[in-house]
Amino acid sequence: RRKWRKVVGLLKDLEESFETPLGRLRQMVDAVAVEMQAGLVSEGGSKLKMLLTFVDDLPNGSERGTYYALHLGGSYFRIIKVHLGGQRSTLEVQDIERHSIPTSLLNSTSEVLFDFLASSLQRFIEKEGKESISSQDVKRELAFTFSFPVKQTSLSSGVLIKWTKGFAISEMAGEDIAECLQGALDRRGLDIHVAALVNDTVGALSYGHYHDPDTIAAVVFGTGSNACYLERTDAIIKCQNPRTTSGSMVVNMEWGNFWSSRLPRTLYDIELDAESLNSNDMGFEKMIGGMYLGDIVRRVILRMSQESDIFGPISSILSTPFVLRTNSVSAMHEDDTPELHEVATILKHLGVPKVPLKVRKLVVKICDVVTRRAARLAAAGISGILKKVGRDGSGGEGRRRSSDKQMRRTVVAVEGGLYSNYKMFREYMDEALREILGDDVARLVVIKAMEDGSSIGSALLLASSHSVRT
Ligand code: ADP
Repeated sequence: RRKWRKVVGLLKDLEESFETPLGRLRQMVDAVAVEMQAGLVSEGGSKLKMLLTFVDDLPNGSERGTYYALHLGGSYFRIIKVHLGGQRSTLEVQDIERHSIPTSLLNSTSEVLFDFLASSLQRFIEKEGKESISSQDVKRELAFTFSFPVKQTSLSSGVLIKWTKGFAISEMAGEDIAECLQGALDRRGLDIHVAALVNDTVGALSYGHYHDPDTIAAVVFGTGSNACYLERTDAIIKCQNPRTTSGSMVVNMEWGNFWSSRLPRTLYDIELDAESLNSNDMGFEKMIGGMYLGDIVRRVILRMSQESDIFGPISSILSTPFVLRTNSVSAMHEDDTPELHEVATILKHLGVPKVPLKVRKLVVKICDVVTRRAARLAAAGISGILKKVGRDGSGGEGRRRSSDKQMRRTVVAVEGGLYSNYKMFREYMDEALREILGDDVARLVVIKAMEDGSSIGSALLLASSHSVRT
């Protein structure tokens, strides 16, 4: 009984330390907008890198041609082929493949990684058969969708700033990523041109904008998390000569690295960060990314099992970093069986068999606390972008428009496995957005979920860059 009381105390502490009341979320919204501004003024001016993308025109539906995209994500890579007939309705995804990234690649070498990608692409193309584009006399054009921070030097080139999400391939920072892939394709004799290097969020924005021109930002909630948005070029002060015709440019925020003293950082976050491959980096991503939520939950359960006997003897499995994946967290959180059967099964895999129902309920509560914080912080991040572009209904443009009674509809494209597969995450995020923005503004902000938008959108972006040239 005394042990249980101890656990109740720990749970209370947990809830308090993970709390994200509206006041704190509002401070975060302000901090995001302020850091965005600082990152736009000078290189290194903020933890938010606010990277230039050289994307000034987004696809609008008039694009034509056949294009490929290869997407290296955090846990998956995808290859797609799309055909565009000059109208939105004629967008045809001709083929798509998704594979898990073998974990052995994460700390391999650049040659191994890029040869793996090239060989996957080779197989994809060999499958196409004879009637495909290969019989035509045009070279295949590929967009490389890359979900890691890159300093772009043009639409088709850029150097890796650093790895994130558990990747640790040495001697690659500073390398031109598009060149690395092109080299690997050439070595295999593949006649493909890497014509665009696209951050996944930028691909997602392109896809969103293709279908709905009110789309001004895109956010990915997958293994990691990141966002991009459309900014006026005159606000990108650090960029002297933006050379854009549209007057705006997509900015890749790299928001996973956002930091503010207002973030509710807990003991668990501090430990997770200290033991990670990239400590002192990507603080926001470590609170909201799919790679990390499971590990936060694991750390909480481990601590409770160390400080009480409710989980039985301490499980060595439970002491292993990353054994609890976020898909298991959502499965436990959304377990609707009266006996919490799913929770029992997952705990058993973690070396914690036969716990009573009240302990299983406690585990569901832990999942709830961790995911709710993540979703609410994510909502604050999105609201920060809306604030920066004057679409949050508060100041600047927003105020003018509200006095006009003509606030504009704003679409934010969202994708990623965490968002699309975890209903509670989505619900908590929507709820927090309504709290922060208020019902009237929230009604005008459409969160549009997409699937494979970042891959398809990169191909669309490549197509639209061609149609500008020709
Ligand atoms: P990536 O980010 O690796 O390119 P995805 O966008 O598909 O690819 O996201 C995959 C991530 O989504 C996984 O690493 C995991 O963290 C999260 N995820 C996948 N399925 C679920 C699920 N059922 N519940 C919660 N999170 C999930």
